[in-house]
Amino acid sequence: MARHFPHGTPVAVLTTQPLDRALDYRAPEGGVTEGDFVQVPLGPRLVLGVVWGQAAGDWPVEKLRGIARVLDVPPMAQAMRDFLERAGAYTLTPMVAMLRLAMRAPGLGETPGKRKVYALGTGQPGRATAARDKVLAVLADRPTDVFALSELADLAGVSTGVVKGLIAGGAVLEQNVPRDADYPPLDPARPGKPLAPDQAEAAATLRAAIAGGGYGTTLLKGVTGSGKTEVYLEAVAECLARGRQALVLLPEIALTSEFLTRVEARFGARPAEWHSGVTQAERRRAWARTAAGQARLIVGARSSLFLPFQDLGLIIVDEEHDTSYKQEDGVLYSARDMAVLRASCEGAQVVLASATPSLETWANAEAGKYARVDLTSRFGTAVMPKLSTVDMRSEKVDAGRWISPTLKRAIEQRIIDGEQSLIFLNRRGYAPVTLCRACGQQVACHQCDARMVEHRFQKRLMCHQCGETTPIPPACPSCGVEGKLAPVGPGVERMAEEVSALFPEARMAILSSDLFGSARALKAQVEDIAAGGADIIVGTQLVAKGHNFPKLTLVGVIDADLGLQGSDLRAAERTFQLMRQVSGRAGRAEAPGVALLQTYQPEHPVIRAILSGDEEGFLAEEAAQRRAAGVPPYGRMAGIVISDPDAQVAFDLGNALARAAAVMEDAGAEVYGPAPAPISRIRGRHRVRLLVKAPRQSPIQSALARWVAQVQIPKSTRLSIDIDPQSFL
Ligand code: ADP
Ligand code: ZN
Repeated sequence: MARHFPHGTPVAVLTTQPLDRALDYRAPEGGVTEGDFVQVPLGPRLVLGVVWGQAAGDWPVEKLRGIARVLDVPPMAQAMRDFLERAGAYTLTPMVAMLRLAMRAPGLGETPGKRKVYALGTGQPGRATAARDKVLAVLADRPTDVFALSELADLAGVSTGVVKGLIAGGAVLEQNVPRDADYPPLDPARPGKPLAPDQAEAAATLRAAIAGGGYGTTLLKGVTGSGKTEVYLEAVAECLARGRQALVLLPEIALTSEFLTRVEARFGARPAEWHSGVTQAERRRAWARTAAGQARLIVGARSSLFLPFQDLGLIIVDEEHDTSYKQEDGVLYSARDMAVLRASCEGAQVVLASATPSLETWANAEAGKYARVDLTSRFGTAVMPKLSTVDMRSEKVDAGRWISPTLKRAIEQRIIDGEQSLIFLNRRGYAPVTLCRACGQQVACHQCDARMVEHRFQKRLMCHQCGETTPIPPACPSCGVEGKLAPVGPGVERMAEEVSALFPEARMAILSSDLFGSARALKAQVEDIAAGGADIIVGTQLVAKGHNFPKLTLVGVIDADLGLQGSDLRAAERTFQLMRQVSGRAGRAEAPGVALLQTYQPEHPVIRAILSGDEEGFLAEEAAQRRAAGVPPYGRMAGIVISDPDAQVAFDLGNALARAAAVMEDAGAEVYGPAPAPISRIRGRHRVRLLVKAPRQSPIQSALARWVAQVQIPKSTRLSIDIDPQSFL
């Protein structure tokens, strides 16, 4: 039971300000209850916070300032507070940073009422100016969205006056709408598609788990096209029918719109959305209606895990193996693991869905910690694609070209048959390296230890670490010789050029995340492809995720060996997953599919495993190797990255940590490093890494906290701790 604190008693309030602890305040008239959202004075300002419990009591009550206001928002549930505390303790994140994740709703302190929003109108812009065109372009791109005035101006990069100038002629509509309107009700009783017997059995298992109540996690493993989405929507229906809230996490915003359409078909209305493409006004609405328990189904990105659900009954993590579930800056957390943690706090069920589960999840199912449900065949008449390798050692390919004669012939046949082909290369841009033929230097980013990557469509060089771009220079930045810069190696844009040269008549589409200004533009492109608007698709891993292209019957992988290089402990697992996923794009409808993997090492065990399709065998083998090496999921790891503008300062701190490593060794852990990080400089900061390896049962977090507390961190230095690191760069 949440405790109540009467008027005048001291209480602890956690704010989102960068302090290291909760602060004490006096309860206002009427008292406060644990979990209440409040406004409190801090210095000269009022800041937002949450009543976290009894005051620490180290200040005399009469010296405490009073809570200014209790917000008219439902209090944060006990389960949510438990979740934040446990997630903070697991990831070694200060509570204020955890609370910030949970309060990412704009305008929380403002009272609901009417507000002005702006949307696309049908009138004429009057006098056309470049600034006005920018506003109209933003609106045209998102014709059904409404924006706050400042947000629309920001997105268009113009002043608010420009937006206002468009109202008179009716090109922009100004409307007064109620804040935080209810979402339309979803009807879980509407019948879904008739399920195939194996689907029905899987759905029944998931439904029964929800009916049973309480926490549990199930791995839903099913080949691409087996109907996993169809099946987990049944679990959502069960959860909604029981009056509880459900959350569906997707790894990629581009997948949301197709999913929303499916939800609408299934439940008769669209759910709430939460991701970076949602406007501020909609975000606030989603947050507030979730807190009120009115939004019953939320579809979102990983950060939607921190929404204030009142009664969460189910979390679906779709494509659970996807690396984008790991948040790699700010608070470092795995949304998949945090979903399981949140569910255990809430007494909710988790469904982890994938065709190629992560080894972590697979091992948890093997160990009996997770239940497991399998769908082994594609729905209907669709069959799994036939995979084979193209041995590049015996193919004749010209310099500067990458498509083998074998792959070329296969594409030609598809064009004749009116079917689609996908050329897959997991590399953005035109060429990964720009080399000066005069001095032999590669063009590098001036603030990162990284090469500049040519993006020919944008006519710029880009650093994939810091995002910095520069025009393609006419002369070599190192030696100054003109006209000698040359692209080396293929990127997806260069593949597009090769496709155009080989198949000048074919219609081509390129799918790469950097080529789309907005999620909507990408969505339009995806829909066009699905409708048959392209003969050849050239794409990065963006296409490997979930899209349905019914006419696609051939997948050609340009470089199947790409991910096998490097020493990442998950290199084999990731390559296996990516190759299986991208191959799975082929032959999803009536026509059977083929995948051709271009490789220089067709006898490599991972390539052989990909071809055999024996996932269980591959995972068991991979598990045996990891177990022998004592690495995740059979051992624990933590990465420590120290960065500073001065390399010596970063190293000094790393060495100081290494000298104090006894506390880690006492906890059974081994410490490696400090060593320069593989990417030794990003945004002008030098990076030094340490790696902690420990047995599975080791109390690694408490030891890490004590360890790091022993060193003095200079003001200019950043130290981040990554529990269960996915990236070792
Ligand atoms: P997965 O998520 O496993 O890749 P989906 O749920 O997207 O599979 O299903 C693949 C395709 O098959 C989709 O177009 C889906 O609508 C269709 N499908 C799956 N199950 C059924 C069913 N029981 N009835 C009709 N269509 C189905
Ligand atoms: Zn850079």
